[in-house]
Amino acid sequence: MGDVLNEGLREKKRFKTRSEAGTLAMGERVAEMLLPAPKLYVLRGDLGAGKTTLVKGIAAALGAAEAEDVTSPTFTLVHEYAGRKVRLYHLDLYRLETERELLTLGLEEMAEQPDALVLVEWGEKFPSVVERADGEILIEHAGGDERMFYVRVKA
Ligand code: ADP
Ligand code: MG
Repeated sequence: MGDVLNEGLREKKRFKTRSEAGTLAMGERVAEMLLPAPKLYVLRGDLGAGKTTLVKGIAAALGAAEAEDVTSPTFTLVHEYAGRKVRLYHLDLYRLETERELLTLGLEEMAEQPDALVLVEWGEKFPSVVERADGEILIEHAGGDERMFYVRVKA
């Protein structure tokens, strides 16, 4: 599924972190790279890869929320945070099964707002999200607490 997104993507940046704190700190560098809004990115990686941790770091960097106040939207599906300049939407589609359910979330309306940054965990499950996305951040385990991050944007 992710391979669909792989096509036509170019790597903008890659990072390695060695701890949860390292990923939180990296949110600042990543936030800069994802702006200017509006932007929609798929966060792609296994359970425990660090997708939510990265969003915590990004939210803090944008002045949208304290890292510890950002929790996984696994059950609520969407969390919204008002940042200094951007409106941050954090989605987790792990529990969603159909495009029909997805429609009720209003992802398109979120992404259309001029100041939106939309970060979607498990977005690669849905062709419509992949289609709409401006890029992805792929996160891979690199042994122990090491993680590799690949920021890729549509060419
Ligand atoms: P996901 O949202 O991808 O399922 P989370 O961010 O919720 O993942 O969880 C990542 C887990 O991995 C946390 O328990 C965190 O403490 C741990 N961890 C270990 N090393 C790292 C790292 N380098 N970056 C991010 N998380 C890490
Ligand atoms: Mg998560």
